[in-house]
Amino acid sequence: MKKVMQGNEAIARGAWEAGVIIGCAYPGTPSSEIMAEISGYDEIYTEWSPNEKIAVEVAHGASLAGGRAIACMKHVGLNVAADPFMTISYTGVKGGFVIVVADDPGQHSSQNEQDSRNWTRFGKVPMIEPADSQECKDFTKIAFDISERFDTPVLLRTETRVSHCDSVVESGERKESAIPKGLDQKDTPKYVMVPMYSRPKRVALEDKIAKLAAYADTEFPYNVMEINDPSIGFISSGVSYLYTKDVFPQYSFLKLGMVWPLPKNMIAEFFKKVKKVIVVEELDPFFETEIRAMGYKVWHGKDLIPAMGELSPGIIKQSLIKVVEGRKYKPPKIMIKPENLPRRPPNLCAGCSHRPLFYALKKLGLYVFGDIGCYALAVAPPLAAMHASTCMGAGIGGAYGAGKVLGKKGLGKICAVLGDSTFLHSGIGPLMDTVYNKGYSTTIILDNGITAMTGQQETPGTGYTIKGEPAAIVDYEQIVRAVGVKNVRKVDPYNIEETMGVIREEVNRDDASAIITVNSPCMLLRRANPLGKFKHPVYTIDTDRCRGCKVCLEINCPAVSWQKAEGQTKDGYKRKGTVFINKDQCVGCEVCVQVCKFEAIVPGAK
Ligand code: SF4
Ligand code: SF4
Repeated sequence: MKKVMQGNEAIARGAWEAGVIIGCAYPGTPSSEIMAEISGYDEIYTEWSPNEKIAVEVAHGASLAGGRAIACMKHVGLNVAADPFMTISYTGVKGGFVIVVADDPGQHSSQNEQDSRNWTRFGKVPMIEPADSQECKDFTKIAFDISERFDTPVLLRTETRVSHCDSVVESGERKESAIPKGLDQKDTPKYVMVPMYSRPKRVALEDKIAKLAAYADTEFPYNVMEINDPSIGFISSGVSYLYTKDVFPQYSFLKLGMVWPLPKNMIAEFFKKVKKVIVVEELDPFFETEIRAMGYKVWHGKDLIPAMGELSPGIIKQSLIKVVEGRKYKPPKIMIKPENLPRRPPNLCAGCSHRPLFYALKKLGLYVFGDIGCYALAVAPPLAAMHASTCMGAGIGGAYGAGKVLGKKGLGKICAVLGDSTFLHSGIGPLMDTVYNKGYSTTIILDNGITAMTGQQETPGTGYTIKGEPAAIVDYEQIVRAVGVKNVRKVDPYNIEETMGVIREEVNRDDASAIITVNSPCMLLRRANPLGKFKHPVYTIDTDRCRGCKVCLEINCPAVSWQKAEGQTKDGYKRKGTVFINKDQCVGCEVCVQVCKFEAIVPGAK
């Protein structure tokens, strides 16, 4: 049956057809939909793991017991999972084990831009890369066969466009793996990586890679050579192949479905068949470096094609039209100039509990070590209340480390802020470090009851599993106290005055402390009825009182905007304009009400 599927949906379908029985993931754009989709298949146990390292470890354990298993993550997630990843290439697998890693070229939703292809050679784990949704499904299936045949985990790499674009997929039936389930203690030398067992494994790994390279050359069906006009041959993979084919369809192509090991004989043959070779790849010169190291003359590659950001047919045309067709690049006519489009910068939702919390931090003038989540939007003006943010969990360690340098002078000036899901992902360790090594920083945990930024995924702190079943729920206060924090406070961030008071006390304390937000569910978390606690559904401006002081604009609520219009208040104050509240966006959180000194924001009617 044919169906239009998103790339991530097709990976899920491929996992199901391949007979996968366990799927583990930590959400991260652009990979999040894969596990959400897999969770819809009853035959597969799925979970949101607390972090990517745990996801890989659980899935690998499942593989050792004979089950086909998949672990999914975004590119930075593989950094978190690097420790087990770098050793499971030695232990190998029993049931097929596939790790999906989704890159984000252009950093649409990431703190950095990484080319995950660099992990394949580094980790000595084969990598395959689909170009469209059909290949997403087919490559996922074949990845499990490769994994079991060569006793290795397999990396399946996608990137934003492959993960999120829709195309037609021919579905198949589910086929269970023939690998028997069970554990055998005789396998100990295979799975215990102490030096006496890992040294021979290191040698065996090279043999495995050689066999995989031979397979890439002779059997892997998705390394494909297309000889058309032989004057120019393009070597490419994934979505870059599709873009290049779109721009220069008349030329020859070597499409690499396997990123590493490379099919060396096929590459040699391609160089014989075409006159000049151009390597087109997104991000790093991975293929180009490998192919040049083989001794071949690559005509063009990263000398013309950008090594940063996403490629597109337009960028490829602009980069190569001169050398390929001897023509000058003519940019397409732009119908609407970007500067003429209405601006819509990313912002926290109207009513979001992070807004008053960061407003309080700004008013207190604290240096905020932030983290990864929706709340990173607080870095943007006018809130401008985040000053450092590196990776998941880094804020707590950062605040503690800065405190060690500043000593008593830093008291009252520093805090760390991170979300509930991020705290469970990688915040507990640095908090333990802060207490154990006598730091004084304050950690603020924003409990909004869900992993919000990536699309409402459950965590051990929400009380539900990925399938919506009730589950054990983490008590943040108990965790924080268990690692030794004695000073733990809870605040309702919607009460700005009280929140400021609590934060002020804690950041001035010469001891580690933690503040946990309560009554602050994500505005999109329907089951928590986030609007239920607001007294009025909407607020409006009393233009008789509004002085146009713009203080309420500092909270950056998307419902509040400025209207230039000279006038005066009822008591005669001359103003240059007033603010306006869009009643379709306002949810009645009263944050703006609290910052207006002139009582000009009053309940309105929807
Ligand atoms: S509503 Fe209040 S805070 Fe906002 S501009 Fe008017 S007077 Fe100032
Ligand atoms: S009450 Fe004020 S801050 Fe809250 S959503 Fe409405 S306009 Fe925005």
